[in-house]
Amino acid sequence: MSLNDIRHWVFDMDGTLTVAVHDFAAIRQALDIPPEDDILTHLAALPAPVAAAKHAWLLEHERDLAIASTAAVGAVELVRELVGRGYRLGILTRNARELAHVTLQAIGLADCFAVEDVLGRDEAPPKPHPGGLLKLAQAWDVEPQRMVMVGDYRFDLDCGRAAGTRTVLVNLADNPWPELTDWHAPDCAALRGMLGRPDSI
Ligand SMILES: [Mg+2]
Repeated sequence: MSLNDIRHWVFDMDGTLTVAVHDFAAIRQALDIPPEDDILTHLAALPAPVAAAKHAWLLEHERDLAIASTAAVGAVELVRELVGRGYRLGILTRNARELAHVTLQAIGLADCFAVEDVLGRDEAPPKPHPGGLLKLAQAWDVEPQRMVMVGDYRFDLDCGRAAGTRTVLVNLADNPWPELTDWHAPDCAALRGMLGRPDSI
C-alpha cells in the first residue's frame, strides 16, 4: 500500500504538528518525578489527592505552552492538503483534549479536526498503548492497516505497530527506529511532497 492509498490519518500533536517546547526534564523536576520515569505512568500510581494536584499543575503549565504554540515546518500545509482531499483526520496526544484544541487554534488548524476525533489523555490510554488508534478505527469503521499514525517519537511508532496501523516518523533528520517506521520524512513539508497527486488515487 502506498502512502497515497491511505485516507485515514492520525497525528501526534506536540513536536509533530507543533514545534516541540515541552521541557520534560523540568516538568519531572517540578513534580518530583524521577528522571527515568514516564510522567503519566508515574502520576497514575500516586495516591489520588497527590495525583490530582500534580495533574492540575501539569495542565496549567501545558496551557501556557499551548497558547504560545507554533506550527512545525509544513504542518499546516500538509493538514490542509489532506482535508482538501476529503480524508479523515484525528489527533492522538498524551496532552489533554482541551489543550489540544487550544494548540490547534494557536496554529490555525482547529477547523481541520472534529472534536470527537481528538483523543487526549482522558479519552484514551496514553501511547504507546494502542487503545486510542483502535478507538478511532472503530469510530471511522476502517481497518487499522488502512490508517497511518504520524509522530515524532517512538511512542507514536510503537502505538501504530501495536494497533496494526502504518507509521510515519517526522521532524527527525535521521531515523533511530527504522524497524518501527513505514515512512520517514524530515518534516511535514517533505511528507507532503511524498504524497502522490490526488487525482491518481
Ligand atoms: Mg510528540
